[in-house]
Amino acid sequence: MNSKAQNNSYQQFLDERTHNGQLRQCLSHQASSSAVEITVNEQTVINFSSNDYLGLSHHPAIIQASTQALQQYGTGTCSSRLITGTTHLTTQLETTLARWLKKEAAIVFPSGYQANISILQALFNKDVLEEEVYVFADRLNHASLVDGMTASKARWQRYRHCDLNHLEHFLKKAPLHANKWIITDSVFSMDGDYPDLNALALLAKQYNAQVFLDEAHGIGVFGNKTSSGLAEHHGVTEDIDLIMGTFSKALGSSGAFVAGNQTLIDYLINTARGFIYTTALPPAVIAANLKAVEIVQQEPHHRETLWKNIEYFQQLSGTVKNSDLNEIHSPIIAIPAKDEALLRLWQEELLSQGYWVHGIRPPTVPQGSQRLRLSLSAAHTTLQIQHLREVLNNLV
Ligand SMILES: *Cc1c(COP(=O)(O)O)cnc(C)c1O
Repeated sequence: MNSKAQNNSYQQFLDERTHNGQLRQCLSHQASSSAVEITVNEQTVINFSSNDYLGLSHHPAIIQASTQALQQYGTGTCSSRLITGTTHLTTQLETTLARWLKKEAAIVFPSGYQANISILQALFNKDVLEEEVYVFADRLNHASLVDGMTASKARWQRYRHCDLNHLEHFLKKAPLHANKWIITDSVFSMDGDYPDLNALALLAKQYNAQVFLDEAHGIGVFGNKTSSGLAEHHGVTEDIDLIMGTFSKALGSSGAFVAGNQTLIDYLINTARGFIYTTALPPAVIAANLKAVEIVQQEPHHRETLWKNIEYFQQLSGTVKNSDLNEIHSPIIAIPAKDEALLRLWQEELLSQGYWVHGIRPPTVPQGSQRLRLSLSAAHTTLQIQHLREVLNNLV
């Protein structure tokens, strides 16, 4: 085939997406002095689509720590972690994470996507381990977990979303002494719901399985004592074998980590390709992450304000007739739309009223389950939440 013919099929794909109203494009916006405002096409709107749940992206102490590291270390590490990409700041961050998550050790990755792919690929690699690994995963797990399992070539089965009976059905069938892992998001990124972690931890014990928990949306949001995530909230931190989390949501910055026992972490340092074959995060980002981990522990009021906002939104929604909402469990709120045209209409109307609320469409969510996904932040004011609810009342 000549190159022109090949380009045609790419164009054809794009034309189809455009025709179906599903073409994906990046929206660029100007700088903003607030965690919840964005300026798009000269219009400043309130952002209800960011995962900056605590508003930490604009926290003065974090910006200061990051600026100082930038001055001291320069802009980049220009090396992978195992060569010269590890600074004192990195070591300090990893020690702090391990202590926070009550694990023996932790390592940092450049992004959550990269962490999940390379951790799962390494963890289930039967060529290295010389044994078959049995993997059980929630059907709605994040794309990065799905990609990691695919890359691992492990034997994996997906149980129905948060359905622990279905999980047990699969666990029962696997050999008791085989190497088994349960893989799940803690808070699900598109629905904001979560599994019963106590029951899940019990099942894991009963069937001799290990648990990998992706706390991307749990870190900073849950945990009454130290804000370390949903595992802390349910008191099961010690029963989770690997806790993965990101700095890119409630911690307001970028990058990810995993914490576990020394053997598992040393194994990952030696085998996780996304840890080994990539340049380490810049010191300015590591310093921001370190400060953010300290701040969520020292300043619980960010989390408390977030939950006040969640309760306020819930209270306002409770008074709406034929409530449009599924139950609210977290700062992530999904409002289903009957079709994509309606979803687009809602999104445009919200924008014209000053609110940025993103519509989520397949294939990010299952076919037919398009929805508005709004996320609340500690940085939203009650007035902003009240106005948003009023606009939604007239739409939905
Ligand atoms: C966002 C997200 C990731 C990816 O993290 P990034 O740092 O954005 O790459 C992984 N898992 C879940 C559940 C997420 O929501």
